[in-house]
Amino acid sequence: MSRIIMSCCALLLSLLLTTSLHAETTTIHAGKLITATDKNVREQMTIIVKDNTITQVLSGFQTPEDSSMLIDLSDYTVMPGLMDMHTHLSYQHGGPSTYMKRVQYNEADYAFDAAHYAQKTLMAGFTTVRNLGDSFNETVALRNAINRGVAVGPRIFTTAKSIATTGGHADPTNGLTKHLMGNPGPDAGVVNGVAQARQAVRQRYKDGADLIKITATGGVLSVAKNGQNPQFMSDELTAIVETANDYGMTVAVHAHGKEGMVRAIKAGVDSIEHGTYMDDTVMDLMKENGTFYVPTILAGNFVAEKAKIDGFFPAIVRPKAAAIGPLIQQTFARAYQAGVKIAFGTDSGVSAHGDNAQEFGLMVDVGMPPIEAILSATKHTAELLNVTDTLGSISAGKLADIVAVKGDPLANIRLLENVQFVMKDGAVVKHDSTN
Ligand SMILES: [Zn+2]
Repeated sequence: MSRIIMSCCALLLSLLLTTSLHAETTTIHAGKLITATDKNVREQMTIIVKDNTITQVLSGFQTPEDSSMLIDLSDYTVMPGLMDMHTHLSYQHGGPSTYMKRVQYNEADYAFDAAHYAQKTLMAGFTTVRNLGDSFNETVALRNAINRGVAVGPRIFTTAKSIATTGGHADPTNGLTKHLMGNPGPDAGVVNGVAQARQAVRQRYKDGADLIKITATGGVLSVAKNGQNPQFMSDELTAIVETANDYGMTVAVHAHGKEGMVRAIKAGVDSIEHGTYMDDTVMDLMKENGTFYVPTILAGNFVAEKAKIDGFFPAIVRPKAAAIGPLIQQTFARAYQAGVKIAFGTDSGVSAHGDNAQEFGLMVDVGMPPIEAILSATKHTAELLNVTDTLGSISAGKLADIVAVKGDPLANIRLLENVQFVMKDGAVVKHDSTN
């Protein structure tokens, strides 16, 4: 008797296992398809998704026999999940009170905010982001929570806490009273000299970061006078790049001023963020070295606009915001014309999370063709992340990160500000057919 029960149980178990292991097949009919493998738009295409992977892209509307779900996007333009290379999911600028969080917020406060903003980001069609700087490694925890399915958000590649020099843009104690300032070191992302630079990179590896972010020049929003001065010596930059590369990590560089950019590019960094005062020399150097430019026009416009409001920024920040903010869009236009590699990035957290796609319009307004703007947020971002084998296009073998908008975004790029369909990792997380 017990033997019969045992074999029944074994049969049931094997049935259950077979069912759960059997691939779910989803069929998507795409009215227009931007695969991002090239610049073409294909009409009436079928995408087959098994579990979390795109297995086939077919011409015409087809429905295989084993398909368990049909998603009709025949009125839509379908494209790969969008990718933003510069976000700060733990923060969102809300005027003067923002600066108080440095003395009010604990780790968990940042983490809950980050979970909220991550969800908004995903619902806006951004299925992958780089998070370039947090406070207490909370975006490492958030990335892990999303990956194990207990939080909703994009794929996150995080730097954890950025690395700065003493008093530099990402020194977290700038502007505090002396007893709160303390003397932060490599663990908190503040370094001086080659040994500390290496230690800070290794600490981030240990903390679970995916890549490294440094602030190579002053910045707009930190409580410090200069937004452009170089803040690392060349030997420190080289130490950071060499150490990061030893651990398989790339290096993203916040920079506004020219000298800081030149030193960083020569040291072999992977991307320049903002790049406000980039001139022809810098652009030539970037092309020579294959360095990406992540423009963040949206953040520039946001701070330029807010600098007009009395009291929005501390007095020391306001002139920097007014001077640097409006320049980024023109810098982007020149860099694009010069042939610098562009990867889409917004610095969201300065502007509101979920508004990321507004960057597309700002790129197209100054001369980038809409298809190039879309490739900058799919194909080229995957290149910067070194994930072209899994992300960045709709083709067989890629992970099923797929978004769609009604109408033709190549005729009106601002349609991307209203993404109606979002699939991440083969799961539909948004399908709003009402608008
Ligand atoms: Zn930033």
